[in-house]
Amino acid sequence: MLGLMQDWPLTCTRILDHAARNHGRTEIVSRTVEGPIHRTDYASLRQRALQLAKRLDSYGITHGDRVATLAWNTVRHMEVWYGLLGLGAIYHTVNPRLFPDQIAWIVNHAEDRLLFVDLTFLPIVEKIWPQLRTIERVVVLTDAAHMPETSLPKVAVYEDWLAEADADFAWKDIGENAAAGMCYTSGTTGDPKGVVYSHRSNVLHAMTAAVPDMLGLRSRDRVMPVVPLFHANGWSLAFSAPLAGAALVLPGPRMDGESIWGLLDAERVTLTAAVPTVWLMLLQYLKKTGKALPWLERVVIGGSACPRAMTKAFEEDYDVRVMHAWGMTEMSPLGTVCSIKADYAGLAGERLLDIQEKQGFAPFGVEMKITDDVGRELPWDGRTFGRLKVRGPAIASGYFRNDDRSAFDDDGFFDTGDVAHIDPAGYMQITDRSKDVIKSGGEWISSIELENVAVGHPDVAEAAVIGVAHPRWDERPLLIVVPKEGARPTRDSLLAFMDGKVAKWWLPDDVVVVDEIPHTATGKIRKTALREAFSGYRLP
Ligand code: ADP
Repeated sequence: MLGLMQDWPLTCTRILDHAARNHGRTEIVSRTVEGPIHRTDYASLRQRALQLAKRLDSYGITHGDRVATLAWNTVRHMEVWYGLLGLGAIYHTVNPRLFPDQIAWIVNHAEDRLLFVDLTFLPIVEKIWPQLRTIERVVVLTDAAHMPETSLPKVAVYEDWLAEADADFAWKDIGENAAAGMCYTSGTTGDPKGVVYSHRSNVLHAMTAAVPDMLGLRSRDRVMPVVPLFHANGWSLAFSAPLAGAALVLPGPRMDGESIWGLLDAERVTLTAAVPTVWLMLLQYLKKTGKALPWLERVVIGGSACPRAMTKAFEEDYDVRVMHAWGMTEMSPLGTVCSIKADYAGLAGERLLDIQEKQGFAPFGVEMKITDDVGRELPWDGRTFGRLKVRGPAIASGYFRNDDRSAFDDDGFFDTGDVAHIDPAGYMQITDRSKDVIKSGGEWISSIELENVAVGHPDVAEAAVIGVAHPRWDERPLLIVVPKEGARPTRDSLLAFMDGKVAKWWLPDDVVVVDEIPHTATGKIRKTALREAFSGYRLP
């Protein structure tokens, strides 16, 4: 017997319809690539998205077509997403910080038909144009007044192109399982892999993201996704914020401490989200200028482990609650958030920080398990660590045009490539990426835990730990640090600081002070580059 409820497909445009009808005057503020602050609202966003859908439809973009974007977080970028979604076409965000050759590879692999590009990234497109095999036309996200000379042969100015249609259009009927978006993972080894979200997975994920113990989004929130739309589905905020009716503040091209603080303050942002590197810049700016964060209530920090010192600074110095989150492109991307359950209620100070160092617990819709190398499940005792595997309706079941099934087990669980333990209360803590863990004398050392301790040293701005070949132990940890401005930390002071905070045999064998640590296109420490740079390093 079937239930007698309505069949109401979970399509992404329904989120925008909802926001436009129920929160139509709620603001969307963007720092434009051209410079000025632009203000609009959900009702107008919906009108412009309908207009764009009509324009794309008359051009011939249809169900299943992929369209690339190389763009910052602005309302134009959101119009493009929703316009495409309304046709059953697929937004394909490309990370502009990748090497140009990788961008060309990804666009060709996805067979994108159009490319929407911000002014900032036009030079990249000009450079790779001869390599692009499927792009029919480049649409520059600006107006005629700001359009520069370009060598591109097939180019349109967004505002003029859009103006060729009106907004008298209806979203196409596409069904909730249709593909909605695409995002390639960086792929530190091998070619990048295309993750394909569906309408249903995006809607379910946005509902999950909004619940109180996840991001806890409310209509009175003003949400600033500093995390770019091109990073792991924009952490779903382009869907979860309108679903909750929250205002959006979009930071455009500027992510330095001063610019981010400027928007947080002027726009009275209550919730913001980004990787630790961004928050490092903001905290340094606040410290230098003595500025405060009077409006901000919550900051979501994920993408790599949030150092304890960062949580402490936000919470104790600025009265902002840190929500440590873990996820990945393949998970739409939220996997866990570290909210405080009854099990840990009442903790304060260092004991609370111990919990906040964990990545948190899974929401409904994310099943987690940890296993050993042969797939046997390990206990949730907060100590035993193993391969972290996940299953759920917003988790990838495979990659675009790629038959590699090695990441999936017989029960459909996806191996995240992370190593973690889970405590009896369900809090998961990442101890490493499986490829970064340091194997010393047959035992594992967590590089993340060592980094977390090292950045607590008052002279350290950033720290990375890698395994370096050792004749007796196979690998031993090497600590690489970037000092804070004007500071000169020494090897001995660092090792003395770490002593007692980790097991003795985990202590790094040596310390190197450098001016800069290389980062990936999504702001993470590029461990592969460090391993290469220090491959012949002779430990004392
Ligand atoms: P990219 O590497 O391109 O940014 P993802 O965003 O998909 O791609 O990266 C996901 C990976 O980032 C996770 O598998 C995990 O290793 C790491 N990660 C994400 N959040 C955290 C966190 N809070 N703590 C530790 N590692 C994290």
